[in-house]
Amino acid sequence: MANERPTRVIDFDGTVTDVQQEAADYLAAYREQAAHKLAMTPDILDMIIPLARKEILKKPGIHGWEVNGLIVAPATADVYLFNRAIIRKIWQHLEPGFEGIGVALDELHQNSYDRAGTAFRDHALEFVTELHRSGKLVVVTNSETKKVKEKLATLLGGEDHGIEVVGNAKKYLVDPAWEGLPLSVTPPGFPRPVYLRRPHYHAVLEGLNPVSAVIGDVYELDLAVPEHLGITTVLVTTPDMTPDWEINHYQNHDNGFTSGSLGEILGKLT
Ligand SMILES: [Mg+2]
Repeated sequence: MANERPTRVIDFDGTVTDVQQEAADYLAAYREQAAHKLAMTPDILDMIIPLARKEILKKPGIHGWEVNGLIVAPATADVYLFNRAIIRKIWQHLEPGFEGIGVALDELHQNSYDRAGTAFRDHALEFVTELHRSGKLVVVTNSETKKVKEKLATLLGGEDHGIEVVGNAKKYLVDPAWEGLPLSVTPPGFPRPVYLRRPHYHAVLEGLNPVSAVIGDVYELDLAVPEHLGITTVLVTTPDMTPDWEINHYQNHDNGFTSGSLGEILGKLT
């Protein structure tokens, strides 16, 4: 866009950070506890996990992150959700009909969460610094502001350089009764509807208007709403995680593109 100082909105976790690396200790702690609950050794669980993972990836469209009964993001949206889907699948197989799985998985998550670390994608420093220098950069994230500011300080060497961070954006929260946007869209190739009625996220974007681009790693959470508002969207892909239908959506897209490289994205935006 031809704005003098364009406002770019970026998601943070998974977009700027390397969630796979950040989650390594978390996953180890989670799986050790899960193995204990499932009465097996961590080694055995480690042998089963790739099978469950493969099964989910065979039909990724039917798995997802459910909030209030609606799928709001793919099961592979991030490594935490994917892990949850994998352990759920194994658990359901071992104890069919057990209704306490959701609560048990929440507990495992809470018990392991402090173990998550901080790691960045290649070119993250250049990406954040240059977008901030050449325009207005706003981080809009579901995470807590404090946590993201700490990570930004780590990336930028102790300072946050005044980059605005909007936390708790609740991009996952769908309210079917809110009438600000159509309930959903189903772009070609998508396995299920993508809900647009995310009033909390919509209000954040409206508050930053005009936004020239939104960059995120999960189309459904980060990009579907701004795309509908006519904003340029950029999907940052993660190998083995980003669903094919999200990547395909950006083939011949008239107002957005996709890439796994922050360096390449930066080159196209500046
Ligand atoms: Mg993300």
